[in-house]
Amino acid sequence: MTAGVPNLELNTGADIPQLGFGTYKIVGGDAKTPVAEAIAAGYRHIDTAALYQNEESVGQAIAESGIPREEFFITTKLWNTDQDRAEAAFEESLQRLGLDYVDLYLIHWPCPERNLYVSAWKALEKINESGKAKAIGVSNFLIEHLERLFAETSIVPAVNQIELHPAFQQKDITDFCHANDIQIEAWGPLGQGKYPLLETPAITDIAQQHQKTAGQVVLRWHIQRGNIVFPKSTSAERIVQNFDIFDFELSAEEVAVIDALESNKRLGHHPNEWN
Ligand code: NAD
Repeated sequence: MTAGVPNLELNTGADIPQLGFGTYKIVGGDAKTPVAEAIAAGYRHIDTAALYQNEESVGQAIAESGIPREEFFITTKLWNTDQDRAEAAFEESLQRLGLDYVDLYLIHWPCPERNLYVSAWKALEKINESGKAKAIGVSNFLIEHLERLFAETSIVPAVNQIELHPAFQQKDITDFCHANDIQIEAWGPLGQGKYPLLETPAITDIAQQHQKTAGQVVLRWHIQRGNIVFPKSTSAERIVQNFDIFDFELSAEEVAVIDALESNKRLGHHPNEWN
């Protein structure tokens, strides 16, 4: 789909660009410029959500790019408080985006205490059948939540978008998803800048070897691990930098060095404690 960016195949048969642009916390009109810069840099996969309050700006940047809609891969998400009105919330998202369809629509969090994610998933199945969401998936789902979907609904999610970075690799969920033909999308791929991941000597040493930045090395690690990533940045320089990760390769030893940084360091909410 995008020059240089490999595609992975979803269980629908559709391709998804393995690298995209994340938009969390770029609120409202502030999102239009960075999204336009990302599109100019070559990104064609954009990850947004109703929660982020920037769907209008994402849609405007797409429209103003002049690039045909079908060259983009656009994801948005159902917010937690809308799990009991998924079809209406989806239409509102489409309207804000100014699009006829999205490529992927996700349940943002399972919110198990509210016990609505199974019925919300059934609504997403209807949206998928309508053709307005080419694929449907989930986010922040644990194995137990996926198993309930398998038992009680008909469509297997195309992706599970979970917190994943070198200090929190979620091997169990990743292995379970891959065994069930569900692609893994890694949110917070750079550790959200919340812990000094990018200053870790193991990473800066590898970066120096390849004449790349620490951020590029971590993104490259995700790519070689088979994760789909969409780093977020509002800096034009970093937007370009984060896209420039397809002209080098980490050795198996370097991948293993980064694998060894696992420290079970969760940055976001635990999915069972966020309702
Ligand atoms: P991220 O790991 O992409 O980190 C973003 C931070 O890293 C930014 O503050 C930026 O300043 C910094 N950064 C970006 N590029 C850099 C570089 N090359 N060098 C140094 N620093 C750099 O975190 P994120 O934005 O939380 O995650 C990526 C995307 O995942 C989000 O934008 C959003 O689209 C999605 N997301 C989804 C969920 C979910 O619950 N499904 C939660 C969080 C994020």
